[in-house]
Amino acid sequence: MVITDLKRHFLKLCADEEVDVQWCDNPLKALALSGELEFIRTPCITSEIAYAVAMHELGHIKSRNRSTEQIARERAAWDWARRNALKWTPRMEAYAAASLRWYEDQPSEPAGKPDNQ
Ligand SMILES: [Zn+2]
Repeated sequence: MVITDLKRHFLKLCADEEVDVQWCDNPLKALALSGELEFIRTPCITSEIAYAVAMHELGHIKSRNRSTEQIARERAAWDWARRNALKWTPRMEAYAAASLRWYEDQPSEPAGKPDNQ
């Protein structure tokens, strides 16, 4: 499986859900907006990590987790990404775990966060 397969898979899922995708250079700028307008900004999928991030952002929309606790929403989005990805490698899992640890380390209202949801 090559990266273009992963990218195609992600874009197909977004097209099916009518989610708009915008690419960005910086993974820290990744975000997902849901509601009337569904929108994802995520790094262009040039690696399996970028694919994991993109699937995670889509997970924010698809998991429908509206918990008031951010860490619960983060975990639900990663769970969705892991379940729906074409492949899930140890490196992708390590990235997800590191991201969740970052949120766990934050006080309840983080001032700067690596992604908006
Ligand atoms: Zn997130």
